[in-house]
Amino acid sequence: MYNFTVIFEKRLLMKKQTRAIHSAFPKADAYGALSMPVYHTAAYEFDTAAHMADAFTGKVIEPDYSRVLNPTVMFFEDKVKELTGAADVIAFSSGMAAISNTLFAVAAAGKNIVSSRHMFGNTFALISGTMKRFDVTARLCDLTDPAQVEQMIDESTCCVYLEIVTNPQLEVADLRALSAICRRHGIPLIADTTAIPFTEFNAGELGVDIEVVSSTKYLSGGATSLGGLIIDYGTCPGFAKRIRFEMVFNLGAYMTPHVAYMQTIGLETLDARYRLQSANALDLARRLTTLPEIKRVNYIGLPDNPFHDLAVSQFGPTAGGMLTIDLADRDACFRFIDSLKLIRRATNLFDNKTLAIHPASTIYGNFSDAERRDMDVSDTTIRLSVGLEDVDDLFDDIRQALR
Ligand SMILES: *Cc1c(COP(=O)(O)O)cnc(C)c1O
Repeated sequence: MYNFTVIFEKRLLMKKQTRAIHSAFPKADAYGALSMPVYHTAAYEFDTAAHMADAFTGKVIEPDYSRVLNPTVMFFEDKVKELTGAADVIAFSSGMAAISNTLFAVAAAGKNIVSSRHMFGNTFALISGTMKRFDVTARLCDLTDPAQVEQMIDESTCCVYLEIVTNPQLEVADLRALSAICRRHGIPLIADTTAIPFTEFNAGELGVDIEVVSSTKYLSGGATSLGGLIIDYGTCPGFAKRIRFEMVFNLGAYMTPHVAYMQTIGLETLDARYRLQSANALDLARRLTTLPEIKRVNYIGLPDNPFHDLAVSQFGPTAGGMLTIDLADRDACFRFIDSLKLIRRATNLFDNKTLAIHPASTIYGNFSDAERRDMDVSDTTIRLSVGLEDVDDLFDDIRQALR
């Protein structure tokens, strides 16, 4: 039988980084492969009709069809499960797939979602647009103000949904305070933790019930592939079951084996890359504060940032690779981006390469001026995702582009 529980008992005593690398396969590989094989197959053969019936009805957890379970994807899910201590982990074909499957699982017609305007553009459009067509309404408020959040909740609220570090505003909400409110009202706190990886902090311990991640970002490493994760801490009865046996079956957005293979390799170096990217971002942010052309450097790792202390208390001493700078106006931002020679003009976050983007004209380019103002997406802001290059070279490129 497919046994995807822990194989090496002793491994549980080892440090996370060791466990991220050394996971035994659930079944011995015929050739002793050192990497988990990529099971590129749509279906699986069974010895008997009874065995097949058990697999199809969930009496045994074994792959029968790759829209629903696949050994390579299960291996990846299991590694994340072990690193987070979660009750279940389900992998999807993108971050948006993990988010939409989560929200469609907790919401229903007539329900509302308490959230904020400070959010990834597509998540905002999903909550305030797509879900509205199914009679699910968005109640948008300031999630850094727990009293306001509590006022928004009523008997039709199905969840509070947030991002742990908003983008591009870089706001941090108090997860413990929001969790206490959610527990009082019997609703889940759902957090998109894409900005700080689960190797650095435990969202479950901070009171998050369901964690969603765009594994396209830090996890994939080098921006190799799109993926998403639902990490369920087991505090919402029936949630993971509904995801596995309703959403994954009926919406069909399960991760593919090739992506799981690439992201498993990404996971092995996640912690090492994250630490270097965070150290680079802090070094660069400090240097950028000395340049007169830059009106503001926003980075939660800088001690004078308003969210610094809360971020440290929740996520530990590292602050990740995302920061923003503000220049005089939109023209200055465009001139700066056009003059970059090393830093790449691209969206995405946490690639190994440093990336620059002007969010107001791109990610938020199709929103109206008024909507952008409500979202605090300013024309003067450039977002940088700091990579693994030497900071001297990054700083030189920024200095020459400002001239
Ligand atoms: C990129 C991103 C998403 C969407 O993820 P995809 O993998 O692109 O679908 C969701 N939330 C945040 C915070 C992101 O940065």
